[in-house]
Amino acid sequence: MSTAVSRGTSPVPPARQPRLTVLSGPSGVGKSTVVAHMRKAHPEVWLSVSCTTRKPRPGEQEGVQYFFVDDEQFDKLIANGELLEWAEFAGNRYGTPRKAVLDHLEAGEPVLLEIDLQGARQVRETMPDAQLVFLAPPSWEELVRRLTGRGTESPEVIERRLAAAKVELAAESEFDTTLVNTSVEDVARELLALLR
Ligand code: ADP
Ligand code: 5GP
Repeated sequence: MSTAVSRGTSPVPPARQPRLTVLSGPSGVGKSTVVAHMRKAHPEVWLSVSCTTRKPRPGEQEGVQYFFVDDEQFDKLIANGELLEWAEFAGNRYGTPRKAVLDHLEAGEPVLLEIDLQGARQVRETMPDAQLVFLAPPSWEELVRRLTGRGTESPEVIERRLAAAKVELAAESEFDTTLVNTSVEDVARELLALLR
């Protein structure tokens, strides 16, 4: 005979906590492409818009890909504690506005950050429940092809980004999950499943 009596307690399992997901991976691996593909089908997935001191690429719009700021403005964001994390990457600074992330998590929505390895490490320290996802290229040669083929950076900047890529690839084991970007469609589907 069962003595377990449920009185006044809900049989409904507790709601899953909304999660913060960090997507990282070497420059040129396809992070933006995969996220854009996923959000085309699922515009409800909220992606944090970072601040950067990098100049906009052709077609990039203020407040869409980034908030473009100068060095002085970036210094102020740091000084005022407005960034959840920030890092210098290949000669420019990038940071995640703190308030928007916390607001969306508080509203119960999953949050996606697309940031570099240094930023991912900071998030792991400050928000240990975050899930860290690493996007890896099918091969080194393919990564070089994609980064060069994008045609958005000078040869010097490509060299800096490839040097950073070697460090990032060596840190893959720090992440909870690795997705290999062979097919944009497949990875976008896998990423969506991880977010939910
Ligand atoms: P990241 O945001 O990681 O720097 P991008 O999304 O800008 O990288 O992608 C870099 C280049 O690689 C772009 O030209 C993009 O079209 C291409 N690319 C992305 N994913 C794939 C893929 N699965 N197969 C082939 N090319 C890809
Ligand atoms: P890109 O200049 O190609 O847009 O971005 C360069 C690198 O900066 C990428 O690895 C990208 O993920 C990273 N990045 C973009 N926004 C942020 C951010 O807010 N914080 C950190 N730490 N990295 C970022």
